[in-house]
Amino acid sequence: MTVLDLGVPAVPGAATTATTDTSGRPADARLVDSWGRVATDLRVSLTDRCNLRCTYCMPAEGLEWMPTEQALTDDEIVRLVRVAVELLGVREIRFTGGEPLLRKGLEDIVAATAALSPRPEMSVTTNALGLTRRAAALAAAGLDRVNVSLDTLRPERFAEITRRDRLGDVLAGLRAAREHGLDPIKINTVLMPGLNDDEAPDLLAWALEEGYELRIIEQMPLDAGHSWQRDRMITAEQILASLRTRFTLREDTAERGGAPAERFLVDGWTGHDGGPAKVGVIASVTRPFCGNCDRTRLTADGQVRNCLFSTTENDLRSLLRGGGTDDEIADAWRVAMWGKKPGHGIDDPGFLQPDRPMSAIGG
Ligand code: SAM
Repeated sequence: MTVLDLGVPAVPGAATTATTDTSGRPADARLVDSWGRVATDLRVSLTDRCNLRCTYCMPAEGLEWMPTEQALTDDEIVRLVRVAVELLGVREIRFTGGEPLLRKGLEDIVAATAALSPRPEMSVTTNALGLTRRAAALAAAGLDRVNVSLDTLRPERFAEITRRDRLGDVLAGLRAAREHGLDPIKINTVLMPGLNDDEAPDLLAWALEEGYELRIIEQMPLDAGHSWQRDRMITAEQILASLRTRFTLREDTAERGGAPAERFLVDGWTGHDGGPAKVGVIASVTRPFCGNCDRTRLTADGQVRNCLFSTTENDLRSLLRGGGTDDEIADAWRVAMWGKKPGHGIDDPGFLQPDRPMSAIGG
């Protein structure tokens, strides 16, 4: 008998109330939810630590880091990724954090993931610090591409936003990624009022010149300080208006699928692949795309989150360390995803920001 048959909590002692009700769940091996979505894209957080201190993400002194014994080992991560790919139909893996390049075993994790069948598509979301030293090995291990977070091209602003004077290292990391074929390279930018909201056209001009794809993300209520305010956020509408002061944009009519970015073609520019250049806007707050969400998330301490904004998690680590079989782990993961809500509910009056900040969930 499996966890699904029983309909009981997947793992006793999970940190928060786990999703347990599986009534009506079809006999489907994949990560289906009760709203008809199927999760095929796995975001794996490899650490909650970071070497930057972006003001909108983390306090200057950092956070109380996850105790080492609670964090999954490289082997445990690889096992869960294998279960996701081989038993649950996951086809795309994104390693994130915290800062995933702080994980010494990243190349080994990537190599083990590349050896799975079917081989999933693999990317990393990173601030690119240290990528100059790691890009070659990551590419050799099988990493397909990188998403690099960068909010400004001005050194003094970079130091102000990230509390570290490292813009030159990020740009060098990006060049290394390109040299080693880790493309398409996407640049993730968050705009904040009075900090960098005047920089969208400059960032796009630079990304077009360099052959990177810029994606500008609406700031979400996921900061460690819980100080996010909707009326202080730069909206998709404002982002597009700003970009259109210098560029002519046309909506990309290509099928978007589960992609979070609404894409626009930039008139007169060619992209890295020889096709029309594109820019993306990720409007998680003002134009949510939850109806097409195909993501499942694993934290560095082995908790499944069925949404970035979940206030509950399902504990796979206890199952893993308690001798659970692959089938039992897969079942617990299915239970977790079945309970996914139809939307993140940021606009609901009762919306509660999750306890874990973005840095401990993984973007
Ligand atoms: N350290 C890696 C990096 O810099 O890409 C991965 C983790 S970082 C938390 C992932 C992304 O989340 C970054 O692009 C960052 O700008 C973004 N981010 C952090 N807090 C955010 C928020 N409140 N709303 C939107 N994006 C946020």
